Amino acid sequence: MRRTKIWRVIMNQVAFPPRVRRRFHPIASRNTSHHKIANEPMVNTVIIGAGPYGLSIAAYFRRHGIPFRIFGRPMDSWTKHMPKGMALKSDGFSCNLYDPNDDFTLKHFCGERGIEYSDAGIPVLLETFASYGMAFQQKMVPDLDERIVVGVERSSGGFTVTLEDGEVITAQRVVLAVGITHFEYVPESLASLPAEFVSHSFRHHDLESFRGRSVAVIGGGASAIDLVGLLRDVDADVQLVARKPSLQFHEKAPANGSKSWWQRIRHPQSGLGTGLQLRFFAEAPVCFHYLPERLRLETVRTSLGPSGGWFAKDKVVGRVPLVLGCTTERAEVRDGRVHLHLRCLDGGERKIVTDHVIAATGYRVNLNRLTFLSSEIQKGLKTVEDTPVLSSSFESSVRGLYFAGVAAANSFGPVLRFAYGAGFAARNLTQTMLKATSGDHVAVPVSSVVQPANERTRTI
Ligand SMILES: Cc1cc2nc3c(=O)[nH]c(=O)nc-3n(C[C@H](O)[C@H](O)[C@H](O)COP(=O)(O)OP(=O)(O)OC[C@H]3O[C@@H](n4cnc5c(N)ncnc54)[C@H](O)[C@@H]3O)c2cc1C
Repeated sequence: MRRTKIWRVIMNQVAFPPRVRRRFHPIASRNTSHHKIANEPMVNTVIIGAGPYGLSIAAYFRRHGIPFRIFGRPMDSWTKHMPKGMALKSDGFSCNLYDPNDDFTLKHFCGERGIEYSDAGIPVLLETFASYGMAFQQKMVPDLDERIVVGVERSSGGFTVTLEDGEVITAQRVVLAVGITHFEYVPESLASLPAEFVSHSFRHHDLESFRGRSVAVIGGGASAIDLVGLLRDVDADVQLVARKPSLQFHEKAPANGSKSWWQRIRHPQSGLGTGLQLRFFAEAPVCFHYLPERLRLETVRTSLGPSGGWFAKDKVVGRVPLVLGCTTERAEVRDGRVHLHLRCLDGGERKIVTDHVIAATGYRVNLNRLTFLSSEIQKGLKTVEDTPVLSSSFESSVRGLYFAGVAAANSFGPVLRFAYGAGFAARNLTQTMLKATSGDHVAVPVSSVVQPANERTRTI
């Protein structure tokens, strides 16, 4: 272990040629046959990822006595990959991590720390949610192992999981809860710009480096809207470019007491927002799973489209130049600056010259991006639109490999894109693991829910 650490330091500091690195570096070499397999019995379940989903699943497993190990840096997406100062669009009551007894909700946390909290109407600050997630981890999942997983391969009776320092462990089952981390999407028109001129919004937490610089943010959703407001706060010369002719902002949820009983039935509140449809998505993901595939895909694609939080409007409208109804056709660097060539809805052309472009253009699940999965696993995964086809218990077509979070949205609906869906995922996976370990068979097997490979839709 000590030797591996010393090697890691040497390999990270010295610029060895790639061939040498591959031969000796425990991370670069993915061939697990070189690694020492830990002299431990096979783990029942390995959870990869320590965001709201991974931590909630782990808290449930722990309480139910399901043996597991969990890997990943806690709340990494929230502490490093969202802009400092941002507030969450979700209402307070839907910003929880989950344990079976609801012992440690955001409300409890805020109460303990004297932080202002309301179920709805007071925006939850990023810093509050991230600190809550870290406190949840320490309380409910103290045995988190922060090492990153760099390899998952099939082995007899399960999987071998390789960690960043080269240690290899074996597990019967693997739950992938890797969230948005591998799925940044940058449109083709920007992708060819050199890295110093374009970045994805995922790359930004502290915006100070943009003080006094000129920046164009591409996108019309919450990420783009939050970013331009916050960049303005650090005196960046920022403008927003969006395809849609107007920006949408979601409405502030009215206090429940202010609604009549009929309004409450007709327009119920839910963890995803107000309305019967959103209530269905939020509370009935299992029913969603049984809808025809085409309807599921269409619904996930079209519901809860891009919009900013109600509180972000004043920070942006009238404060930041908005170039709406325009799409970037191409981009190039000339004299050290980016030239964006836009095509607008009225057919006209526009040009923007700026120092840097931030693509706040969202995330697209694409399993090919999970390069730590072996090619054998990749080949065995049945997919639709590059996302995994899952059984009613989150199991993929590779037996024993489960997906939770945004990668499961095409199976269980839009709620899986939000922290609110972590409770459902944790409950469902716990039941599955309990039944699997007691020998019962519960889930609808994947073979009965997938189409044959040649009939698969692969659009995006
Ligand atoms: C700007 C922005 C605003 C958002 N606002 C909201 C909101 O208001 N409400 C809401 O519910 N959702 C919001 N979301 C969506 C949010 O990303 C998800 O709700 C949430 O992150 C889902 O949790 P997760 O655990 O699936 O994923 P993540 O939080 O992304 O966690 C995944 C974890 O997996 C780890 N990981 C990845 N690969 C490995 C590996 N190989 N080994 C070990 N660990 C690994 C990562 O380090 C990370 O910690 C927002 C997203 C963005 C980008």
